[in-house]
Amino acid sequence: LFAPHRANAKGWDITHRPTLIEIDKARDPFHAHVWDATPLSSAWSNAANAKARDVVNPAVPSDTVGQIVFATPDDAKRAIVAAVPWDLPAADRADVLRKVAVAYEDNAEELFALLHREAGKTMLDAVGEIREAVDFLYYYAAEAEGRNPTPRGIWTCISPWNFPLAIFTGQVSAALAAGNAVLAKPAEQTGLIAHRAVQLMIEAGVPADVLHLLPGGGDIGAVLTSDARINGVAFTGSTPTALKIRATMAENCDPGTPLIAETGGLNAMIVDSTALPEHAVRDILQSAFQSAGQRCSALRCLYVQEDVAEKVIHMLKGAMNELRMGDPWHLTTDVGPVIDETARQGIQDHIDAARTDGRVIHALVAPDTGTFVAPTAIRVNGIADLTREIFGPVLHIATYKSGDLDKIIADINATGYGLTFGLHTRIDDRVQQVVENIHAGNIYVNRNQIGAVVGSQPFGGEGLSGTGPKAGGPLYMPRFAAMMEIQPIP
Ligand code: GLU
Repeated sequence: LFAPHRANAKGWDITHRPTLIEIDKARDPFHAHVWDATPLSSAWSNAANAKARDVVNPAVPSDTVGQIVFATPDDAKRAIVAAVPWDLPAADRADVLRKVAVAYEDNAEELFALLHREAGKTMLDAVGEIREAVDFLYYYAAEAEGRNPTPRGIWTCISPWNFPLAIFTGQVSAALAAGNAVLAKPAEQTGLIAHRAVQLMIEAGVPADVLHLLPGGGDIGAVLTSDARINGVAFTGSTPTALKIRATMAENCDPGTPLIAETGGLNAMIVDSTALPEHAVRDILQSAFQSAGQRCSALRCLYVQEDVAEKVIHMLKGAMNELRMGDPWHLTTDVGPVIDETARQGIQDHIDAARTDGRVIHALVAPDTGTFVAPTAIRVNGIADLTREIFGPVLHIATYKSGDLDKIIADINATGYGLTFGLHTRIDDRVQQVVENIHAGNIYVNRNQIGAVVGSQPFGGEGLSGTGPKAGGPLYMPRFAAMMEIQPIP
């Protein structure tokens, strides 16, 4: 399953489903395990009144995955004082990060279970996620060894629930590779997996006064982004939160303090009349519905040229009907739950409004327990109809006439976002024309538009989608370090 820094296999092909053997739950020690997590910080006070919260499986409400104690704002303030940069040569830091990668692989079964039960990830997503986390560790380790960076000081890393291991690990390992102290605040919804990851990092040799895990909500984030002693902030999450962080930092931090923000997108794909419909449909399905649409890279607005629209949409409906929703523990599940009830309600409200307007083209039926949203296709006039990022399995579809291409490109650029973009065409000149004019960080031609691979497809957007530098690329780790010339590694 795993190899350092190697391309992700693209295996989501419902027309060629291998026979899968279900895991015997009774023999799996992690199926019923209940995890316990607290802040992991030498500054944690362990206040007697610290209350543990239950973490519940989003697919199976009766399944309690564990308990977690959140850090308090005072814990976070003490951690800022206690945090010290990593006093170890870069090559030795790289060795420790590679040991963490091995520990992730050795503990993959437990990490799978956490990804299924805490984050609602299917097996395909969980495999991809652990592989990506391992890739980040090897990649930034190699970067540290090759570039010999010196630390800036203390970094705050705020990570999202949709890649609770990969993005958490990517931010933290880049900051550590550069030799910084790290204050990590994982998303409220996925603190258990972050806790397990940090335990493995500390066991592998990351010192406990260098890396501090402070699980909690916005109150912890506020402390960790508004203190002049912080030397940098890495944030992945929503665009409005990134804008708030920028404003807070502008008021409180040294003006040179870097913010690396990776945020949302209103991602489009154009399928023209020369595209191969079977190929396009597979890639639309993957881009819109894999991970239940909970990727910032996911396809939100599909433009199909009207000559082929009927055929493509007909085939897409058929393909959607093949998707299996359910408990991600089952290997055959294609679409798991969305992360929690608040997310479910927000997405469902959007679908219900479209249904009232008669704009739902096709929808599946969701399981009636757990926080599921059924994959749904909604008709729109164009991307301008999307007023916000709907972070779930909802695909908006517009049709266009051959002469409208320039207008569509202008509309897509006018959203102000610029994360991923997809194009299906068999005309080479058209690839050139579109790719040169679209503002997006990651552009994919005749393939799906998710699952950027560390090292070969650095990931990140422009405009409202992020600040750069791209994660998993050669400019990322140096941003965490004190100023350096960036030369190619020999
Ligand atoms: N890197 C992921 C991808 O290429 C998306 C990351 C995100 O959703 O934040 O699909």
